[in-house]
Amino acid sequence: MLELRPNCECCDRDLPPESDQALICTFECTFCVDCVESRFLGVCPNCGGGLSARPIRPESALHRFPASLKRVYKAHPACANPRSPPPSRQAPPPSWA
Ligand SMILES: [Zn+2]
Ligand SMILES: [Zn+2]
Repeated sequence: MLELRPNCECCDRDLPPESDQALICTFECTFCVDCVESRFLGVCPNCGGGLSARPIRPESALHRFPASLKRVYKAHPACANPRSPPPSRQAPPPSWA
């Protein structure tokens, strides 16, 4: 089951379970769409895998299977410098586009 983490790991903005702004990788690293597009170019900075839209869990299911309340926040190199990502890295175009 997905954890449905409550925030973007990079900018710490809230990503509630019903948000359509949340993207996750296969390990459930969770980011907002802004960070993924402007900073990570569609690739998870933790594992290098692709990021996809997080499925929205219906309200009724949230009662039985609530979203995680544990905020995950990490200082990614790309977070400190949103306008200048590392030049050495050539990431593929976002796969969800
Ligand atoms: Zn973010
Ligand atoms: Zn990841």
